[in-house]
Amino acid sequence: MTGEKERILVVEDDAKLRRFLDISLTQQGFRVEGAANGAEGIRLAASNLPDLIILDLGLPDMDGVEVIRTLREWSSMPILILSARDQERDKVAALDAGADDYLTKPFGNAELLARIRVAMRHAARRQTQEQEPVFREGELEVDLHARIVRLAGQEIHLTPIEYRLLTALIGHAGKVVTHGQLLRMVWGPNSEEEHQYLRVYMNQLRRKLEPEPAKPKYLLTEPGVGYRFKIRQD
Ligand code: CA
Repeated sequence: MTGEKERILVVEDDAKLRRFLDISLTQQGFRVEGAANGAEGIRLAASNLPDLIILDLGLPDMDGVEVIRTLREWSSMPILILSARDQERDKVAALDAGADDYLTKPFGNAELLARIRVAMRHAARRQTQEQEPVFREGELEVDLHARIVRLAGQEIHLTPIEYRLLTALIGHAGKVVTHGQLLRMVWGPNSEEEHQYLRVYMNQLRRKLEPEPAKPKYLLTEPGVGYRFKIRQD
C-alpha cells in the first residue's frame, strides 16, 4: 500500500469485539482507534477526523443514533453501524439519521471489508461529485445520460418510476437504502408511508431485470430495512 494508511475509528463498548476489529482491520492495512462509549467516540471523531467510523448502536452512555445525528451536524464521514439481528427499527433509524450502512452481529471479515470498501468509495465519489455516465454490473448496463437500460445487450423498457427506482438503488450500489429513503427519492417527500408501492414496483423491476425474479442477484431485499443493489466485490 502506498501513501498514508486509512484510519478507522471503532466505537464499541464490547472490549472483545473492539479487539477483534482492531486486529483484523490492522492486518488489512488500516490504522485503527477505539472508543468504548459515544461521548469518547464523538470526541475522537472530531479531533482525529477518521476516514470511516464503525459504530455500535447499543452504547452505555448514549444511543448510537444520537451519535450519528451529532456527527452529521458537521461531518459526512462514512459511518457503518453494528447492530444485533433483531434491531430492524434501530437500523432504519440509524440509516435515516445518516449512517451509510450496517453490519449485523455476528459478521465475518469478508463482509466487514466489503462494507468498508463500498462506504469509502461512495464517500470519495461524494467529494469529487463524479458520476460514471454508464453503470455496469454483470449483464446489466444503465446509460444514465441517454436513460437506456440494457440487459445482456438487449434494451429493456422501464416505466419512469421503475427507472427512478433503479437509478436510486444504483446511485448507492452496494449499500442498503431504506424504504423511507427510496420512497422519498422516487415518489417525493410525502410518500414515506406508502410501502406497498415499493413492493409492487420492486417486483416489476425484478421481473424485467432478474434472470430469476424470486432469487434476485441484483435487487436484494434487506428484511425490515430496505433494499440493496448488490455489486460484485473486486
Ligand atoms: Ca454494545
